[in-house]
Amino acid sequence: MMTYHCTACWSELPAGAVGQPCAWCGAATDAPGDYVDKLLEALRHPEPSTPVRAASILGQLGARRAVGPLLAVLRTSPDGFLLAAAARALGQIGDPAAVPGLVELLRHGPLPARLAAVEALRRLGGAEAETALRWAARADPARSVREAAGDSIVGGERKVGREQRVQ
Ligand SMILES: [Zn+2]
Repeated sequence: MMTYHCTACWSELPAGAVGQPCAWCGAATDAPGDYVDKLLEALRHPEPSTPVRAASILGQLGARRAVGPLLAVLRTSPDGFLLAAAARALGQIGDPAAVPGLVELLRHGPLPARLAAVEALRRLGGAEAETALRWAARADPARSVREAAGDSIVGGERKVGREQRVQ
């Protein structure tokens, strides 16, 4: 079941209330297609908590259309919280096209974003994600990231985990 939010005040809307004025602030609410468009616009909103919120809702919705805009956030945003939210959303949406952008974030992003990249790459899987996670388990400067990456390798792919311990 999808959860909709008013894109003016961000209150959660009950099912069936989309298309009627928001019960909290009175703003017009949108049909589902327009809702994703509004969320994509909100990724560029100047008030810092708004894009974070929009990214996490896009992830919950599994909105494939958001993959490109979320990857653009990874390339351009200096905000660690937004980078982390965008990475998590890309993991939830589940499109393997996001892997290279997440690998880049894992190598060069700030700490909370690297942790979120580990989580997202674990969800997406595949050879490129595995290689990046193995690298982070060994070489990330932060212990929390090394541990998260190591756990994700052992949990997701036992063979890889054994090779890792032999090295
Ligand atoms: Zn509202």
